[in-house]
Amino acid sequence: MVDLTLQQVTDNVQRVRERMALAALRAHRQPEDILLCAASKARSSQQVRQAAQTMIDLFGENRMQEMRAHFRDGAYLDKPCHFIGQLQTNKVRQVVGQAAMIHSVGSLRLLNAIAKEAAKQRISQPVLIQINLGQEDSKAGIAEAELRPVLEAAAQLPQVVVRGLMAIPPPTPTGEQARPYFARLRALMEQARGWQLQGLQLDTLSMGMSDSFEAAILEGATLVRVGRDIFGERT
Ligand SMILES: *Cc1c(COP(=O)(O)O)cnc(C)c1O
Repeated sequence: MVDLTLQQVTDNVQRVRERMALAALRAHRQPEDILLCAASKARSSQQVRQAAQTMIDLFGENRMQEMRAHFRDGAYLDKPCHFIGQLQTNKVRQVVGQAAMIHSVGSLRLLNAIAKEAAKQRISQPVLIQINLGQEDSKAGIAEAELRPVLEAAAQLPQVVVRGLMAIPPPTPTGEQARPYFARLRALMEQARGWQLQGLQLDTLSMGMSDSFEAAILEGATLVRVGRDIFGERT
């Protein structure tokens, strides 16, 4: 894989930003209400450092080891880093307190493990609950029906703050065809707000990737996770 130059990454981010703004405009939304997360899995610290100098808002990491390496190298500069990949319970210690938000909480077991580690560190960890919208066996996330009990449990855990929902819809031939999934995630969040549970702060909808972020913005995404359209294809 050939690393892009700083100029190429800057141009790519500029184009993504323009497409985000157009989608926001179509949805009668403010572009500044939508965060651009650079999904940096499998990228070098050098590539990450270049992206950190562009108009992205934050980074999203899938792998704990890569996140640690990029922190160690100072590659994020002043940008926050979120954890967006599958997280094993035994790796929680290295992610809690490092990631400004954990997007991929797909079980009560993981939520409890995060709360326990956050208590040890005497911090409060922002998280998103991942929903398995397509009910795919292969995908992480809780079933829609589990959302209420999971949020009720979260409301009892002062060491975690649930900030919203995240999903990776099943693959569709075009991003546009993922819109019903995004609409569903937004409807779920509105439903969850209606439950008026204490201690939650439901303001973040993390949905949409390179092929689908415009569709996600049209359906209410507040954070899109873009990898290939910023860094180029992964090998
Ligand atoms: C890789 C990844 C992305 C970005 O996907 P692209 O198609 O490269 O834009 C977004 N979210 C998650 C959870 C990912 O693993």
